[in-house]
Amino acid sequence: MRQLIKKLLLIDLIKGLLITLKTIFTHPVTIRYPKQKREITEGFRGRHALVRDPETGKERCVACLRCVRVCPSQCIRVEYTEDPTSGARVLTKYEIEAFRCIYCAYCVEVCPVNAIVLTEYYEYAVYDKEENYFTKDKLLQNWDEFIAGYKGDSYLNKFWYLKGIERRRLPFEKRFPKPINVKMEAKQ
Ligand code: SF4
Ligand code: SF4
Repeated sequence: MRQLIKKLLLIDLIKGLLITLKTIFTHPVTIRYPKQKREITEGFRGRHALVRDPETGKERCVACLRCVRVCPSQCIRVEYTEDPTSGARVLTKYEIEAFRCIYCAYCVEVCPVNAIVLTEYYEYAVYDKEENYFTKDKLLQNWDEFIAGYKGDSYLNKFWYLKGIERRRLPFEKRFPKPINVKMEAKQ
C-alpha cells in the first residue's frame, strides 16, 4: 500500500528532480578536458624517460638489469653486448610496455646510476597502440621533451632523494646524486 501511494504521488521522481535541481547550482567537479587540464601534483608518476648523460649525450643506463628484475609487471626489456676491450656492458635495447606498467617507480628507485625517471606526462591516447611501446629512442625523446625541454633541473634533481627509504639503504649514486644540468642537455 505504501509503495502504491509512493508511486501515485511520484515521490521517487520528485526526489530525483530535487537532487538534479540542487546540483545545477553547485560548482562542477569535472573539467572540460582536454581544453582544460588539471594541475599535476608534484611527484606525479607518468611516462618514463631515460636520462641523457650531459657529457656523452647518450643514455646513462649501464644495462645492469636491476630494473628488469624488480619490475612487478615485467614490462621492461633490456639487451646488451659486451665491449671486447673493457668488458663493460653496452646497451643495445631498452623497452618499456607502457600499458602494462603500474607506475610503482621501483625501476627509478633501484637504478644504481640514476638512469631512468618518471615524468609528469600522463596522456596516452594514441591511434596506434605501438606508440605506447617505448623504445630506447622514444624514452630518450621523452627526456628531451618532458624534462630537458620543459621542467629543468630544479624539478628533476630532488627526485633522486626518494621518500620513505633510509638514505643509508640507497645506492651510492642516490645517496650523493650529482646534479644534472638539464638545460645544457636541452641544447644537444
Ligand atoms: S614503474 Fe614499476 S611497473 Fe612500471 S616499469 Fe617501472 S618497475 Fe615496472
Ligand atoms: S637499473 Fe638503471 S642502469 Fe640498470 S638496466 Fe635499469 S635503467 Fe639501466
